[in-house]
Amino acid sequence: MLYRNLVAVYEQLEGTRQHSDVRQLLTELFRSAPTNLLPSILYLSQGLLRPEFEGVELGVGGALARKAVAQSAGVDDHQVHREVSVSGDLGITAERLRSGQRRLEPLEPLEIEEVYAGLMAIAAARGSGAQEERLRRLTGLLARAGPVEARYLIRFVLGSLRIGIREMTLIDALAHAFGDGSKAARARIERAFNLCSDLGWIAEELSRHGLDALDAVTIQVGRPIRPMLAERARSLSEALHRMHGTAALEFKYDGLRVQAHVARDGSVRLFSRRLERIEAQFPDLVDALPAAVRHRPAVLEGECVPIDPDTDEIRPFQEISRRRGRIYDLDRLRSEVPVCFFLFDLLLDGTEPTLDRPFPERRERLEAAVTPGPSVRLARQLRVDSAEPARDFFDLALAEGAEGIMVKSLAPESTYRAGARGFWWIKYKKEYAEGLSDSLDGVVVGAFHGRGRRAGRFGAFLLACYNPERDAFESFCKVGTGFDDAALAEMPRRLEPWASDARPAKVDTGLEPDRWFRPGLVLEVRGAELTLSPVHRADFGAIRPGSGFALRFPRFTGRIREEKAPTDATSSGELRRMYRQQVRQSPAASGPA
Ligand code: AMP
Repeated sequence: MLYRNLVAVYEQLEGTRQHSDVRQLLTELFRSAPTNLLPSILYLSQGLLRPEFEGVELGVGGALARKAVAQSAGVDDHQVHREVSVSGDLGITAERLRSGQRRLEPLEPLEIEEVYAGLMAIAAARGSGAQEERLRRLTGLLARAGPVEARYLIRFVLGSLRIGIREMTLIDALAHAFGDGSKAARARIERAFNLCSDLGWIAEELSRHGLDALDAVTIQVGRPIRPMLAERARSLSEALHRMHGTAALEFKYDGLRVQAHVARDGSVRLFSRRLERIEAQFPDLVDALPAAVRHRPAVLEGECVPIDPDTDEIRPFQEISRRRGRIYDLDRLRSEVPVCFFLFDLLLDGTEPTLDRPFPERRERLEAAVTPGPSVRLARQLRVDSAEPARDFFDLALAEGAEGIMVKSLAPESTYRAGARGFWWIKYKKEYAEGLSDSLDGVVVGAFHGRGRRAGRFGAFLLACYNPERDAFESFCKVGTGFDDAALAEMPRRLEPWASDARPAKVDTGLEPDRWFRPGLVLEVRGAELTLSPVHRADFGAIRPGSGFALRFPRFTGRIREEKAPTDATSSGELRRMYRQQVRQSPAASGPA
């Protein structure tokens, strides 16, 4: 299949807003593609080369891409530079330069397979000649690309495909292409995806063996599964009430969620909440887990928390972030910031998947499978059937350095629900008990120039929540409070990879920041209350026409939520629920901002 045919679909997608039209285009694409090409088509269309958890990076930056565009078009770097400053998009520039070129011989058209193989080779380039190798290969691909192909090749390489297809849309289209398109078909594909996190593999499997084959998909060592998520409750009694009076309470540790895969031979893979491989940051866990886990292979979940090596006390979460992204000095950090992994779930016990077992059985198996040691322990748990001991346990959790408790269902239906948020797990945090508002995770979509003492740098940031139904990032506050000088000075560097010349298509706001950013960086904020505002677009019109939710008096807590993807930010649905709870508690809070 020709790459030209794939980008023709991209072009149509770019001009299509209706979900049903997008689905139709994708359904036709999947039906017409040869089975063996489906994985590459799925990955490429998501801006990936392999499923996200494999962490395959292309390794091509803007400078190299510009050079490849210049060389393949036979112009000098300055001309490319000038054109980009007008078009603002290297993809468009590449396209324009290609269409202006005269050729003596017709091009031999690019096959999808060749493009994919070429990009994989670029990603695989290593060593001293890697940059030249990448440049040579990218120039080679561009030299054979037609104008529109060049536009999308460059956009792919720069990580901004701009066709905006999200996973749920792909799943929907797969359900139409290889099933009857019903809700039930979608649910079966989604279930398989939650367990294997690989849409390319799923597409090929569907095409070869049909929907029934997917029902056999279960957890596998080495493939991360989507984490189960918690709902929130305003009070302990509400949480217990939802559990019909009896529940398991656990410390809610404030660290990094880690999914550990321990193979039979003792090799370990660690995945973050975003399903990225993180064993390089935690060599101590890689060492400790094989000894601690008696039943192998195993897939376990827990929270990784810094602890004080002298007193064994839990340390503040911020200390662990010093380890993230570090490649050097790990040995020193390992002893300076030792961590403890508090396990709270078991998803694979030996060769037996335990996901579909009720939580009490999973916990029992977890206790049987693990020999606790200094750096691998079990999350502290207490089963209760009344409010009194629950309150004591909550106080104990705070005293011991946890940020609250998790209230977990013990019902027969309390299976592990990969990728789902529900009331089987309810979080109850310190802030709720103190009557403070809960923290929110907002995605930076814009920044405003500072004034006065902050002149010459950013003074405030526009934050958005995520609306999964619209696949949109909707603004809910402008935050400038809570940043110290160091945090503020660091923001431009942090935000640089997400800079955008114009408002990104998925961003919805009534404000016009000085700089736009594609959704990437997630910040934790806290505020006084939620109100309704005409300039913010969070769940626009849900309560009153022409108004969205806004956070009043927002303040940055100092925490950049690196472990959260933009789509993991607080959702517009969560804001709506929080607003309703707040209104119930205090009718005065419902007025406009
Ligand atoms: P939040 O990130 O505020 O939605 O809270 C849910 C997170 O709490 C989970 O994703 C885990 O990272 C973390 N957590 C800490 N302790 C536990 C526990 N005992 N059970 C489940 N999750 C926990």
